[in-house]
Amino acid sequence: MIDVVKAESQAVLWGIDLRTWMELQLQVFGNVDAFGHSEIDDDFDEGWRGQVAQTLVDHKLFSKANRYMECSRYAHLYECKGEKTHSLFAPIYCDLRFCPRCAPRQFARLIAKYEPVVRAATAHPKKGYRLREITLTTRNTGVITPAQVKKFNQDVKKALKTIMRGVKGWGAIWCDEVGFENTNLHAHVLLFGPYVEQDRLAQVWNQISGHIHVYITQARRSGGKALIHLLKYVSKPPAKDPNHIGLLEVAFHGTRRVHALNMFYNFVGEDTDNVQSEWEICPHCGAELTKLPGTVRIERAIVEGRTFAGTKHTDRRKAWVN
Ligand SMILES: [Zn+2]
Ligand SMILES: [Zn+2]
Repeated sequence: MIDVVKAESQAVLWGIDLRTWMELQLQVFGNVDAFGHSEIDDDFDEGWRGQVAQTLVDHKLFSKANRYMECSRYAHLYECKGEKTHSLFAPIYCDLRFCPRCAPRQFARLIAKYEPVVRAATAHPKKGYRLREITLTTRNTGVITPAQVKKFNQDVKKALKTIMRGVKGWGAIWCDEVGFENTNLHAHVLLFGPYVEQDRLAQVWNQISGHIHVYITQARRSGGKALIHLLKYVSKPPAKDPNHIGLLEVAFHGTRRVHALNMFYNFVGEDTDNVQSEWEICPHCGAELTKLPGTVRIERAIVEGRTFAGTKHTDRRKAWVN
């Protein structure tokens, strides 16, 4: 189980960011079991992935199915322009949300994106303003559809804006979640703002969404830790059942799972992961990299004596939504 704070300081020591640290752990040491309860380990069989892909195919998500099947199996090859012409490989990932190999990296990426925002917002708190943890729930209907997810996100946004009407300097981040192996769609919200009564929140949520149960407490953790807690479900797929995973991928297709509102939205930094990579240069000598044509199986790249260079391709992540 990973101690995120420790991981972060190690990443700083190595001069890389947390996302890259996660990627390295995954490639060099096997699975990143970020929270100590990973059900699917690194060498889960291709059959499991095949079943997820089949569900995606059944819903006409052909390219996603293909990416999911091939995640972390092939690599692009690079050679550095330094004197020693180091040979490198960069794994090709699927970057899908419910991929056990990709989820820890996406988690680290989201932490990097939102941590400075939360820290900045809470550094100079107004009187009575606190970080508050809210859960907004829905009735379990036994299925999750794309329409349901879209409506749910609209409702969450509307409810938070209604509750914070007339309030200045508030911010919120929320993450959609489903329960383990079930279709319990709910949102965990980190709200920065004045006191909100549970009854009022419940009333607003019921008026807007028709659903009943809400919870609100003052965050007992610091901003960074509260954020890690909020996003931790992103780091692992919420099911063992491949069909269920496939259906979640379908339900969230084209929809974000993590949202920011008001101040947390306005202050969010440039998502540098979209435009640059830690692996622009040779990790051994710092020389520029040249991409070689074609792709090979990762095992073969390793046998050839190539060393890991992390993901360099950022195009796909531009389209990637979390
Ligand atoms: Zn993947
Ligand atoms: Zn080199």
